[in-house]
Amino acid sequence: SDQNSPVPDEDRARHTELVRELDDHSYRYYMGRPIISDAEYDALMAELQRIEDRHPILITQDSPTQKVGAPISVDFAEVEHLVRMESLGNAFDVDELNAWADRASAEVPVESYLCELKIDGLAVDLVYENGRLARAATRGDGRVGEDITLNVRTIEAIPERLDESVRPAPELLEVRGEVFMKVEDFHALNDRITETKEHPPFANPRNAAAGSLRQKDPRVTATRPLTMIVHGVGAYTPAPGAGEDAAFTSQSQAYRLVGEWGLPLSDRYKVVTSMDEVRSYVSYYAGHRHEPAYEIDGIVVKVDAFSLQRRLGSTSRIPRWAIAYKYPPEEVTTTLTDIKVGV
Ligand code: NAD
Repeated sequence: SDQNSPVPDEDRARHTELVRELDDHSYRYYMGRPIISDAEYDALMAELQRIEDRHPILITQDSPTQKVGAPISVDFAEVEHLVRMESLGNAFDVDELNAWADRASAEVPVESYLCELKIDGLAVDLVYENGRLARAATRGDGRVGEDITLNVRTIEAIPERLDESVRPAPELLEVRGEVFMKVEDFHALNDRITETKEHPPFANPRNAAAGSLRQKDPRVTATRPLTMIVHGVGAYTPAPGAGEDAAFTSQSQAYRLVGEWGLPLSDRYKVVTSMDEVRSYVSYYAGHRHEPAYEIDGIVVKVDAFSLQRRLGSTSRIPRWAIAYKYPPEEVTTTLTDIKVGV
């Protein structure tokens, strides 16, 4: 690519068109109403990436290749996250997974990895102040999300107050997780809304979760079978006088603490000490994709130690200390009919 070569009119025009289309699809997707499949979206994104590789001068900060998520809906107030929320880099085969691990190990001495399921739902950010749920938000563009506090309060799995029976609640705790619908609950919901004509049926559990959580009226959200599993932490100020053992030193140790405070954890995450074990975890769930009660679209692998996560850092949109191993899509042939009922 050559910074100085003039950009042909047709590339410039296609670039503008792709940016507009991708922004539009992204907005629909986060509303729970996509009109194209993920594979089609990814193909448009790859086309945009190729144009930008040829003409880096076209890359702006708000290009879909550079940013996280979607524009904020006017239906919700804006909330600034205390710590930025990122997306995840992808590996589509074992070579790409190994390449990620090699890059990380070339920079820092990785001793353990945390492997977990990539649940197909939507990310939420919860802020607990002195043990009380003060605020909940969508990921939004990663810096600013949508205030969905009232909707999140209707989700039973998310405690209003942290459990202090093991240790006192921290002054401040920002925790992230995936809100989703179990497959069985999704089918029951679709049957119900089809019968009552309350709403057109949803194409899949992810769309149902996104559409249900981002309701203007929390009373509607309250009727939807949503649940949540924690997959990260953000800002954290321990309780005054809390000892060393209340410090967050690793992903797995932070999970143990937030679990003690009553936040919902997965029983399927695993801390391992070698890439061989990471690859076994990935191949186990490739063959047992439907064992969990919810849909997964891959595996997430994270460098466990927070000191190493900090040293590895992030790009503008993804951490270098984590990667999503994506399984191939399963519903390619039913996509079109799914989309028809979903609109
Ligand atoms: P992503 O969904 O691939 O990965 C990041 C997200 O994974 C996080 O925000 C989090 O919500 C989730 N996650 C689940 N389990 C997790 C775990 N254990 N640890 C950490 N995070 C976990 O990235 P994205 O940026 O949200 O979206 C990109 C994807 O969305 C692409 O697959 C794209 O095809 C699809 N998309 C589709 C359309 C469409 O119109 N069909 C539009 C926009 C985006």
